[in-house]
Parts: sequence; structure tokens; C-alpha cells
Amino acid sequence: MGLTGIQILAKLPKKNCKECGYPTCMAFAMKVAAGQAEITACPYVDPKVVEEIAEATAPPIRTVKLGVGDTVYCLGGDTVLFRHEKRFESPPLIGTVISSAMGAGEIDRRIDLYKRLSWDRVGILLRPDVVMIEEANAPLVKRIRDALPWCALILKGNKTNLEECAKICGDFKPLIYASKNEVESLFEFAKQKAIPLVISGDSLDEVISLSEKAQSAGLKNLVLDPGSKGVRELFEDLLIIRRSAIKAKFKPLGFPVITFPYSYTEDYLLETTLASLLIPRYASIIILSDLRAGALFNLLVERLNIYTDPQKPLVVEEGIYPVNGPDELSPVAITCNFALTYFLVNGEIEGSRVPTWFLIKDTDGLSVLTAWAAGKFGADSIADFVKKSSITEKIKHKKLIIPGLLAGIKGELEEELPDWEIIVGPREASGLPAFLRQLQEKIKAEAA
Ligand code: SF4
Repeated sequence: MGLTGIQILAKLPKKNCKECGYPTCMAFAMKVAAGQAEITACPYVDPKVVEEIAEATAPPIRTVKLGVGDTVYCLGGDTVLFRHEKRFESPPLIGTVISSAMGAGEIDRRIDLYKRLSWDRVGILLRPDVVMIEEANAPLVKRIRDALPWCALILKGNKTNLEECAKICGDFKPLIYASKNEVESLFEFAKQKAIPLVISGDSLDEVISLSEKAQSAGLKNLVLDPGSKGVRELFEDLLIIRRSAIKAKFKPLGFPVITFPYSYTEDYLLETTLASLLIPRYASIIILSDLRAGALFNLLVERLNIYTDPQKPLVVEEGIYPVNGPDELSPVAITCNFALTYFLVNGEIEGSRVPTWFLIKDTDGLSVLTAWAAGKFGADSIADFVKKSSITEKIKHKKLIIPGLLAGIKGELEEELPDWEIIVGPREASGLPAFLRQLQEKIKAEAA
């Protein structure tokens, strides 16, 4: 059971010294109870009380951390069953397997894929972020750590090798995956080094039993592999784990879950379809049989969309975005900073292959018409933005495409920007490619 703010306040020294960053102990206690502040922010609380409060306020799905410093990945930390109740906390890590049993060429190919497959999406870098090293040995772990420093590591193999490999990682925390027969012999090592362990079994009952043993041994950082035999069982197990942890506060299942969609099919399309279903269905790690650009990109975009806060609009930073390598004779288009609008319009511009300057105006994440109605995307504010931006230094023409939905402000905008020709774009983003091609030809013809 969690503690209330008043119960936490009773355990605080009540100095009201503000060192925690809050004006009073009461304010701090309320934030800790709401999970918005760490009890460790107060330097005067007894360590035993810190542990007691941290335990009582921990989320029902425990947060497990991999990596170190700037490369820390959190797994779990969730408190809800459904995304509309509160956001899902930690995006699942997505990657593939590299095994010492693979030939040198295949290992090179996979490392190269990790380096090449990355995409910038709304200023966020999308790329595979975990490697599972099978039959792990020290030289391979060292090589992958050096080659892919941003990746979380899962080390799978026998006990002796795993201990050696974990030591090579130094302060960087890998996830250790030993067989269910050997994992108990790693409890002490994992506890000493504070390294997370995978708890696996042939059934959920076996996983629960092993998880209870691990917790009795003092281990708190666990990841579960329910060992589900079929697709239906996998999704049932994921639901049982999440419901048991959140609704029944059943601690043996209150941990993140690792999944292997490739173990249910040899068809890569089906495998990645399963992976796409696992993203919203509580998987914390998704290991694929291989990395292929098309499937991986879609999974990463889906993850980005699911793991946002549904109560906050997803926004794009205001600015000038060059698309397809524009130059001084490239068209200029403007829209709002609602991320969905940006994704759609940017996708169509990219697909058109027409070099374009894409202006994004800050509208507090509101869509075109909503922003216009709220006074955030009217002629005056668009004109101010265009004047303050440095777009005129990048182009030789003065033609500005506005969204088709804003056709009604064309005249007003022409008054605000008298040097510019205001062009009303298509109402649907799908009309942009043909529209841009025509406009590009016109700009070039006029400049010739
Ligand atoms: Fe109270 Fe501790 Fe915060 Fe000081 S640092 S105000 S004692 S909670």
C-alpha cells in the first residue's frame, strides 16, 4: 500500500528548510506521495526511513534501470492498466540478438545495422537501443560495448561467463539472463553488483516461485520472461502480469517483462506484427530475430506515439525545417506545431522529393483550425513569425504556402506581409506532392 502525504510528513524532520526544493515539508511530502519527488531529495531523513518510504511509494511495476550516466534506460515504473488513465512510463527497448555462435560476417553485419538504422523524428532520434548477446563472452561484450555505446545490453549465457562479462561492463549495468537452473546461483553476485536479473520459467507459476525466491534473497531489480508457449498464452500472460501487479499489488509479478516475438513464428512480417502488438501490451523489452529498416522504423514510430502523455499534446519545436535539401529557389510552406500535423505534412513533402523549406509555428500543440480559432495561428501571428524567422536569408523568392484550411486569412496575411505572395495550399496533405512540383517549376521559371 502506498503512503499518504500526511503519513510521509510524519516521518520528515519538519525543518521547512527548503533544501529539497519545496517551500515546506508538507509540500514535499505531498509530491513524494504523488510520485513526483524522490524522498532522497531531503538530506535529513534517516536512511532506514528513506528505504521504508521508497518501498511504500514504489510503483506496482518496479522501475529497473540499465546502463549508466547519460545512457540509462528505465524499464517498467508503470502504475496503470490503460494509457488514458495516465501515460505509460518507460518505452520498450527494441533490438535484436548478436551471438558468439554467429560467424564473424554476421556479427559485423548486425553491428553495422545498429549503426546505420536511425531516424530523426521531430528532433527525437529513433534507433534500436538494446542488444541481446547470446552465448556471451568477454571479447564480444567488450566489442559491442565499444561499437554501440548507446545500447542497453542483455547478457545471456552460462554463469561463469556472465559474471566475467558483467565485470567487463564496469559501472554500466547490463541485464543478466541465465538459465532458470543457474539463475539462483547468481543471486548473490547480482545483489552485490546491483545488476538486474531475468527471471524465467516454463510457466507463470515457475516465474512466480523464482521471483519470490529472488525477492527473499534481497533482489529488487528483476525482469520477467514468462516463457509463454504460444502467441495467445503470451498475451494472456502479459495481461495477467500487469493486472496482478497493478490491481492486486502482487509483488512477485510487479516487474518489467522481456519478450521474444521471433520465438512464435519464422515469418518476419508476422514477427514484427506481433512486436507491434507487444508495444501497447506491456512489453518492456522486445527482441527481434533481425533488424530490417521498414519494420524497425514502423515499430519505433509506434513506440514514440504510444509512449507519450495523452494529456499533453505532442509538439514540434518552432523553427525552419529543411526537407529534401532545399535551396534558394525551393518552395516555403508553413503549418502549426501539432506533431500529428507535422508528421503528416512532412511525410508528404518528403515523399514528393521536392526540396522545401518547412516552417513550423508554435501554436502550443494545437492543430491548424483550433490554433486559428484560439488566436495562435492568425494572419498577425503568422506574419510576426515569418518576419522574425531567417527564411528570407535562405530564399530568392517570396512565396508562402499556407494550409488550405486557412484560405480565409489569405487577404489579411497579404496585408500583414505585403512583400509576399500568399498561396493557399491543398486542404488535404495528400495533395501536396503535385502542388509542390508545380510551384517549384513556377518559381524556377520566374527566376530564369
Ligand atoms: Fe523539510 Fe527535508 Fe525539505 Fe527541509 S529538505 S523542507 S526538512 S523535507
